[in-house]
Amino acid sequence: MVDVRAAHKMFGDLHVLRGVDLVVQPGEVCVVLGPSGSGKSTLLRCLNELEQLTGGSVRIDGELLGYREDEAGTLHRLHPSDIAKQRSRIGMVFQRFHLFPHMTALENVMEAQIQVLKRSKAQAKAKSVELLERVGLGDRMDHYPAQLSGGQQQRVAIARALAMDPELMLFDEPTSALDPELVGEVLAVMKDLAAGGMTMVVVTHEIGFAREVADHVVFMDEGVVVEEGPAAQVIDGPTQDRTRDFLAHVL
Ligand code: ATP
Ligand code: MG
Repeated sequence: MVDVRAAHKMFGDLHVLRGVDLVVQPGEVCVVLGPSGSGKSTLLRCLNELEQLTGGSVRIDGELLGYREDEAGTLHRLHPSDIAKQRSRIGMVFQRFHLFPHMTALENVMEAQIQVLKRSKAQAKAKSVELLERVGLGDRMDHYPAQLSGGQQQRVAIARALAMDPELMLFDEPTSALDPELVGEVLAVMKDLAAGGMTMVVVTHEIGFAREVADHVVFMDEGVVVEEGPAAQVIDGPTQDRTRDFLAHVL
């Protein structure tokens, strides 16, 4: 599903991704751990074209992200509208919820379905109601973001991403802006999604979630994957000192 090869990303002179390889199988939940500044968000942003790689490639479902390869193997940048199409198949949920403040929960979930997917209002509404019920917000659909708790806002953001029928969902520290008592309700929605077979890449410091839900844990530091494998192996039996140091701080 996700195939990242030799990914490099420079911001000016700052070499943030230094040759990342990552494969995520369909239906797999991959949790990315790592210290602040290690490049986790940058990697996620490169997986959905919010940032462009400086070198290397990302394939989603076999399809090269952002480029077309000709017979000679030369890469040609895709037209922005084709990139937008690719991006619409990848859902992203951020630490801050980024809901439209002037729209209700329902309208937030409907908006891109109408604008991007050109669904009818009735279709978009039916889909939104179904998704808001699925994330436990059937009784909050007409509330504006300011009238919702952080956990509820994040669940709206998840429903909004799901409304695009993504093949892949990316989560960048989805619970780290929440009060501790609200973390569980968001993780529960993510667990439900994982159980339903969604392919997910999740940057989080929630080690409990990683242990319970992740099929695959990746530990990054200084722009490289230091260690990866099943949760039990990486979290409970790390082989690298850097992984051990990090875990000692977060556990
Ligand atoms: P955190 O755990 O704090 O979220 P992270 O692992 O997500 O950290 P990134 O946000 O990917 O780390 O940042 C990696 C490095 O890249 C940092 O040094 C950061 O300052 C730098 N960086 C990120 N985005 C940009 C940008 N748009 N321009 C310049 N530098 C950037
Ligand atoms: Mg980050």
